[in-house]
Amino acid sequence: MNYLPIFIDVRDHRIVVAGGGALALSKLRTVLKSVASVCVIAPVVSDELHVASGAIQIYERRPTRADLAGARLVYIANDDIAENRHVAMLCRELGILVNSADNAAASDFISPAIVDRDPVVVAIGSEGTAPLLVRQIKARIEALLDGNTGAMARLAASLRPRVRTCLEPRARRTFWRKFFSGLGGRLLARHGAGGARRVLHDVLGRQVVASDQPGHVSIVGAGPGDPDLLTLKARRLLDRADVVLFDRLVAQPIVDLVRCEAQQIEVGKTPGGTSWRQEDINTALVEAARKGHHVVRLKSGDPMVFGRTDEEIEALQAAGISYEIVPGITSATAAAARIEASLTRRGRNSALNFITGQDTRGYAEQDWRALAAPGAVSAIYMGVRAARFVQGRLLLHGADEATPVTVIENASRPDERVLTIHLGELAEQMARQNIAGPAIILLGLTERRSANQATGSFDHTLPPSLSQFPALMEVG
Ligand code: SAH
Repeated sequence: MNYLPIFIDVRDHRIVVAGGGALALSKLRTVLKSVASVCVIAPVVSDELHVASGAIQIYERRPTRADLAGARLVYIANDDIAENRHVAMLCRELGILVNSADNAAASDFISPAIVDRDPVVVAIGSEGTAPLLVRQIKARIEALLDGNTGAMARLAASLRPRVRTCLEPRARRTFWRKFFSGLGGRLLARHGAGGARRVLHDVLGRQVVASDQPGHVSIVGAGPGDPDLLTLKARRLLDRADVVLFDRLVAQPIVDLVRCEAQQIEVGKTPGGTSWRQEDINTALVEAARKGHHVVRLKSGDPMVFGRTDEEIEALQAAGISYEIVPGITSATAAAARIEASLTRRGRNSALNFITGQDTRGYAEQDWRALAAPGAVSAIYMGVRAARFVQGRLLLHGADEATPVTVIENASRPDERVLTIHLGELAEQMARQNIAGPAIILLGLTERRSANQATGSFDHTLPPSLSQFPALMEVG
């Protein structure tokens, strides 16, 4: 972002529009929506602007330093470029923020397109890159926010003290959720602002809710990293949680979706680094829920795959705390999707192994003979440090050195890498390519290559051909 979006308090402040033509008029229309005290100062002021300006002060002359001093903002919009430069220079000397119409380089701020449902205002900008896109977005948001939006926000503000005294924190959030997703709008439409306020005031008075609501824990799969791969349920829970405990492997863009008032606790288990012990995580879950919180335990991938979720469930059961489990996309399936290779295939493998390279005792032993069989497919989790061990064991049990292997590091994340190798070179290539994890090793699978890709000319991230998008072709 080159421009930081903010809302400036203009109560009891002056805004100067330095310009008197059509451009100035459009700026004036925007600033007049605010409660600022606005004046126009320009050598030439059109009749149209005189008419549109209503009761505001118009000075038909060049602005002086004294005119500008103390202004909160100045909009410069004369047709005369030299005059604009002069005003901009005065403002700069006075340290006033300016917007120079049609001259972004000379502007300290730009005016966004706005959807006005005062006091709810949506500001949209593209830093000047795509005005048409901005207009389209504005039209969509206009359609989305009905005429009651502002009234609903005002009603909410007037009810806030009442809600605070009558409801405890969780019940408050439930109330507001209902209020903003239908209840408020319906009451406003039926009873008007005053009537809706009276109805809700009474209802709240009768609803003093006990503050000993039991807590609840949602154990939620965060998927491999791409926020688009979260389930809708996970997304909703992140919006509602009071406390979120998340693993080190949960990607930052997903942590960023957590409601900002929620307490966020990273319970990372860095391989070889400082760690939260599993018992401490269990205790933290139980304690947070006992305080009546809605706790989200966010785990990378799917919680039921190498996630030690059973231990957490047992701790919650022992403490009598209610819980639910929300599945997520596990790394193996995300990785298979990435390389377009099915994890199962008729005639090749009728079983699929999910194995770990490490367990609590160190490198994990497996039924190596079965894993080494021709056509066997295994997804190896936590296999980076165990790569040499896994490779050695498989070869020892008769696996073919030429068995295809694909390593997918950071599956679904911006820094995703795919390594296409064979078993005989697994450890060596992983070290050489500096695979630092998280990575999933797909044993027995290789990346499907499209016809274009085989020639080395096709980039996965681009549509194969624009002709597949006739609509795109039409707009040109
Ligand atoms: N519950 C998780 C697995 C946790 S074990 C799941 O279902 O995916 C941790 C291992 O998961 C890592 O060592 C790595 O093998 C794998 N992993 C997690 N996120 C990954 C990602 N974005 N890309 C590749 N592998 C990943």
